Amino acid sequence: MSSPLFVLLMGPQGAGKGEQAKFIHQQYGIPHVSTGDIFRGMKTREDDLARQVQAIMAAGQLINDDLTNQVVANRLAQSDCANGAILDGYPRTPNQAAFLDAYLQERGHALKAAILLEVDPFTAFKRAFGRVTAANGDSYNIYYRADGLTVRHEKSPNDEYPPKVVAVLPSGEVLKRRPDDADAHAVIVRIETYLRDTQPLIEYYAQQGSLLHRVDATQSIDVVSQAIKTILDE
Ligand code: AMP
Repeated sequence: MSSPLFVLLMGPQGAGKGEQAKFIHQQYGIPHVSTGDIFRGMKTREDDLARQVQAIMAAGQLINDDLTNQVVANRLAQSDCANGAILDGYPRTPNQAAFLDAYLQERGHALKAAILLEVDPFTAFKRAFGRVTAANGDSYNIYYRADGLTVRHEKSPNDEYPPKVVAVLPSGEVLKRRPDDADAHAVIVRIETYLRDTQPLIEYYAQQGSLLHRVDATQSIDVVSQAIKTILDE
């Protein structure tokens, strides 16, 4: 039996980690473990911890390392991760990276690849802030994938805030943003947080032999997917 395939997907918001995780899942059958999705999933809970997590996410800041590490350990202990997992959005800090190394090592496993989806901060902003979703799950981007969308700017009462960008389908359906993408300032804070806290991890993985692979994530989704396949098939 081949050893489990644990893969990291790194890159700022809007680099396309979610999209590429879907591709890796289809190709290699390993589950997509996104700490952002796990934390967003806490939205339906009413307890104090869930409320704290929502407030931190809405501000674009990071959840504390101990809680995040515990959430990941619980997820990786589930049976569908026996053959590996795609880690998306984790680790984000040196402490989380050290925790993951120790976790895998204790089980006789190791990371196979850390894939860095490289995109400049301005593109990352437009990809994250511009992404909108229809009720049926179809996704669009007001800057890049705006086929058929009408984009209008709604002034806020008394001009208190900058105009709100609203995307509407020909059917009249108003498209929704993910709550943590809705606030331009929070998106900027997330990109800044990435540059400050997560970027140093690139160096950490770069020092570990041939673990780190850089992919130009401004290319089309399919081209990026093929580059990832080439890396993982090696
Ligand atoms: P994402 O969908 O990966 O952009 O994550 C959305 C939000 O969830 C982040 O802005 C953080 O507030 C929180 N989050 C996700 N992953 C982590 C992590 N590894 N460490 C700390 N906070 C995280």
